Amino acid sequence: MTVLNNLLARASGEMKAPGKDMRKAIATAHSAATYAAIKERTGIMPKGLSRAERNDLKARVAEQLKYYDKFAEQAGDMSDAAVAARAGMYANAIRTTYAAERNPGLPFYPGEGTECLTNCRCSWQDDGDGSFTWVLDAKESCVTCLDRASNNPYSIETKAIKAQTDQERAMH
Ligand SMILES: [Zn+2]
Repeated sequence: MTVLNNLLARASGEMKAPGKDMRKAIATAHSAATYAAIKERTGIMPKGLSRAERNDLKARVAEQLKYYDKFAEQAGDMSDAAVAARAGMYANAIRTTYAAERNPGLPFYPGEGTECLTNCRCSWQDDGDGSFTWVLDAKESCVTCLDRASNNPYSIETKAIKAQTDQERAMH
């Protein structure tokens, strides 16, 4: 997880408070997370993204910016601590992007559809036999994440799609 930790450290350094650079920082961080995850998955830093990967990235950034713009409007009425905490959530959101590109085809990803939101510290563990385990954080208390762990193990649903994406890249 060192690669992801480096990306998280950089992102949180760039996302301290709303400002003209933060929209760009969000887009850059999700892009970097996408490339890094593909490199982890395939062993090769991609020169570019497949159409599906580009669309995923665009959608993830657009979703973040939608929330970010509301946050930027409200930030003037918030305390410094609240602003910092909220800004940090945008940096943390790259965990979801990273996890989704690292192991495509799993039914959900950390920070997605849970009460813990981007504070989620859960992760997918590749069991090496085609199955994956949803690993809880030691301090995990979010109901959805506990429920997910109780349904371990999981398997990739769209192996074919992933193979197709990798094949498309190989042709570029
Ligand atoms: Zn969680």
